[in-house]
Parts: sequence; C-alpha cells; structure tokens
Amino acid sequence: MTPEQFSSAVLRWYDTHGRKDLPWQQNITPYRVWVSEIMLQQTQVSTVLGYFDRFMSALPTVRDLAEAPEDEVLHLWTGLGYYTRARNLQKTARIVMREHGGEFPRSVEALTELPGIGRSTAGAIASLSMGLRAPILDGNVKRVLARFVAQEGYPGEPKVAKQLWAVAERFLPQERVNHYTQAMMDLGATLCTRSKPTCLLCPVQSGCEAHLLGLEIRYPVAKPRKELPQKRTLMPILASREGAILLYRRPSSGLWGGLWSLPELDDLDALNLLAEQHQLHLGERRQLDAITHTFSHFQLAIDPWLIEVEGVSGYVAEADWLWYNLATPPRLGLAAPVKKLLKRAADALNTGEMA
Ligand code: SF4
Repeated sequence: MTPEQFSSAVLRWYDTHGRKDLPWQQNITPYRVWVSEIMLQQTQVSTVLGYFDRFMSALPTVRDLAEAPEDEVLHLWTGLGYYTRARNLQKTARIVMREHGGEFPRSVEALTELPGIGRSTAGAIASLSMGLRAPILDGNVKRVLARFVAQEGYPGEPKVAKQLWAVAERFLPQERVNHYTQAMMDLGATLCTRSKPTCLLCPVQSGCEAHLLGLEIRYPVAKPRKELPQKRTLMPILASREGAILLYRRPSSGLWGGLWSLPELDDLDALNLLAEQHQLHLGERRQLDAITHTFSHFQLAIDPWLIEVEGVSGYVAEADWLWYNLATPPRLGLAAPVKKLLKRAADALNTGEMA
C-alpha cells in the first residue's frame, strides 16, 4: 500500500465513519482545539466531554483563560489529574496574549515553543484548526502506525519515535489534512484499539504488517517493565465542630503543585506541632481506611486520620492555609485523593461518627 493509497483509504473511511460531532469540532478555533488536545492527553474522550464544556463556558477565549485566577483554572481541572497541564495552559494563554497579540502562532515550530505544547499537540492545532500540513503522533495515531508498519522497539525511545514520526510524515496527504488527522485519531480510538482491534472493518487492513503477521497486540512494543517504588504518608483531617477542614496550598512546583491539600506528616507525633502552629486543641481522633494513589513514577499510600479540633477562629498562622468549609466549599483546585478524603470526612461527620 503506498502512502497515497493509505491516506485515501483513511479519508474515505472518515467520510462515512469519522466523528464529526465532538464539541471541539464545532466552532473550530486554535484555542478550542488546543484546550481539547491538552485535556485528551492521558484522558478519554467520554471523560473530557463534560470538562471541556464546563471549561469553555467559564473561559470561552484565550484572553479569559489568561486573565482567570489560577485557582479557578485548577478548579475547572479538578479530577482530570496531571495538573501541570492546567498550569501550562494558563502560562501559554498569557504568552499568546502578551507576545502574539491574542492569536496562536501559525507554525509547528512556534507552537512547540509554548509551554505544554509538544510536537504532536502542535501538529493537531496546526492541522485541525489551521489546515496546515503537519503530522501528529498521539497515543492513538502511534498505535495505528506502529501496527501498520510493525514498528520494532519501544516508541518511548528517541530512535524509535523518530522512525514513527518519519512514517507519520510520509503518510500525510497533500489535502484535507484536518480530516485525515481526525480520521487517524478516530481509527485508533474506535477500530485499532489497544487490546481488541477490529481489523475486519479497518480501511488499511490489506497493507497492515501487524495484521498480516497476526501480531496486532504486539505493537506498539510495550515499555520494559519496572516496579514502581512505594511511599507512605499520613494525612490528618483536622475538622472543626462546624465542619471546616484545615487545608494548605502546596508550593507551585512539584507534586500537586499549587493545589490545595491536607497536611502531610511522617507520623502522629508531628501532629502536636501542627496543632501548636495553628493554636488548636485536639479532640477525638480515628483512623480512616488507607487509600493508594498511583503516580507515573511511584505509588503513594495515604493513612488518613479524622481528628476533631477546637479553637478554630478563622485564624491561621501563615498564608497558604485555610479552613475549607464542607457545607459551602470554595472553588479551589484539589488533588484527586484529597477530594476523595474530604468526601469521606464529610460522610463521617454527617453520620455523627465523630459527634
Ligand atoms: S488492520 Fe488492525 S491492527 Fe492494522 S491498523 Fe487496522 S485495526 Fe489496526
């Protein structure tokens, strides 16, 4: 199958089977495509749908995003994970306003200079919203192409990635690049799926090396496995009688950067120091079930303790601490496990377990 035959088959398939009704396919602008692409990194379309609509209602233009308080952006992102994406989104919006007069630059090279925009995202913005001839290589497209050419080697290795980018460029059509890009993403998402590709319905089946070999699942070659290191931490949920919980804002760089979190302690002995710092009297305490959160590079086991406190007067010893009212929660960016623990604390307090 020649590259022209490949792209023609993909485009014909798009005309009858491609998705054309996703929210970011309507009123197409670089801003909308960019936000959707960033949300779709690591997150499935079905999850992104609700987030995208909420985000666009709250921040409909790149200017709105640039001017929004960071807490608002992180709030809209809460639950999507990988919060660096949200912070980079705002950094980029500010650069677009400051240095590009509110318009996204019209080349892949210039787009990749913006925070959080890699070559594939730049290619998607350029091809989908500007009609420029630029390839993409997101997870779905990588899978289709790696299978089609039976690419050996783990695509996370630069040498292998380079070879796949060359394939992506070679197969790019001269025209209708926007439809081709969308079609390739759809092919990967709907037919050439990770564990059960529907090769029978695939428009490029006759030239697909992996299919001819009967080894579809072998590609893309998996990352060599490594055990994730384990870490453990204790999170006290300091709850006032009025149902307010003590939170602090994490430093802007590092894990959960800029998000509001429960304090972290090495052990319960450190609790007295925290109480002293905030002039609190500790009351009844009980341990809740531990939860585990998996990051890309380690696993964190969290031991939560629900602890009743007295002496809350709205006073906090330092900035970046606040009493989070469970009944009228403020709009803040929260780390996913912290959100889960606050919900558990609310349940425990409502059922009167700490009364
Ligand atoms: S033939 Fe099968 S493995 Fe090959 S691209 Fe199509 S769906 Fe994927």
